[in-house]
Amino acid sequence: PQLANQIAAGEVVERPASVIKELVENSLDAGATDIHIDVEKGGSKLLRVRDNGQGIAKDELTLALSRHATSKIHDFADLAHIVSLGFRGEALASISSVSRLTLTSRPASQDAAWQAMAEGRDMAVQIKPAAHPVGTSIEVLDLFFNTPARRRFLKSDKTEFSHIEELVKRLALSRDDVSWTLTHNGQLVRQLKAVTDDAGRQRRIQQLCGRSFAQSACYVESQYEQMQLSGWILPAAACSAQLQCQYSYVNGRMMRDKLLNHAIRQAYAEMLAPEALPAFVLYLQIDPEQVDVNVHPAKHEVRFHQARLVHDFVFSALSQMLTQTAQ
Ligand code: ADP
Ligand code: MG
Repeated sequence: PQLANQIAAGEVVERPASVIKELVENSLDAGATDIHIDVEKGGSKLLRVRDNGQGIAKDELTLALSRHATSKIHDFADLAHIVSLGFRGEALASISSVSRLTLTSRPASQDAAWQAMAEGRDMAVQIKPAAHPVGTSIEVLDLFFNTPARRRFLKSDKTEFSHIEELVKRLALSRDDVSWTLTHNGQLVRQLKAVTDDAGRQRRIQQLCGRSFAQSACYVESQYEQMQLSGWILPAAACSAQLQCQYSYVNGRMMRDKLLNHAIRQAYAEMLAPEALPAFVLYLQIDPEQVDVNVHPAKHEVRFHQARLVHDFVFSALSQMLTQTAQ
């Protein structure tokens, strides 16, 4: 089974940023509202995610680390309307198969925390008492220590950390009700407070996408049947290669979806100067039954059951807004 984990790790764990993505998605699935991310040496030495989510009970710790163990899907029918970010039960098993992983957790129902450790192939999980507030910390040391070919494939600390920074930006844009802290080699890199009002929302978009984007972007909100589109788009006239900011989310998941990108580009097509790029932060909410997220292990793509309808809705909502702002 450990070999299978290492193979699966190749799909889920490409680099330090992909570990952070899996860990943070677990924190969000656990209802966390405060997430701390600590990184050392671009993540090759240490990756740590600490959350204040619901925690993992002592007798489930070992299970959380084993393959295909997920607490999020109970039967086949659940697959049709996935609302959690994770559902494969593969991430922790994969990550621990290529690192030294420590999982420390305390659910509100326990007055003490417990810790489980797994190291590479041996996977002899030991459990011992630990100190931790309600929530979970996962520490990943020496990523790829036992797969030297993959370790050599890592880029410089600076490059790996820039991937992490970009990821945290995408995540922070997806959930403004969560506080985020990011450190690298002990230095604070980002601190974002949970948003509670419009001023806070404006501040966060400015912190993440820059002042010029925040100042010129228009807020979009549109609804059709079971679909809702909201977010910010830059009027075509304000778009430039410098103000690049292209983020889209489907039901809170970060996406690089072809269909959405196409609809967005098409809405801008007529109006955009040749050297300019569309800039947007868009959130599409759609009935989970209408979208299949089980397409790709890293979950960047989705499949819409009514692709045409989704495309046309996004296109017309945006082109309406862009035409208005062009006048
Ligand atoms: P998946 O997210 O697909 O269920 P993972 O391997 O990522 O699989 O996680 C396995 C299980 O461990 C999850 O289903 C969840 O029950 C538990 N878990 C992992 N991280 C956390 C966390 N931060 N807080 C609470 N539970 C967690
Ligand atoms: Mg997960």
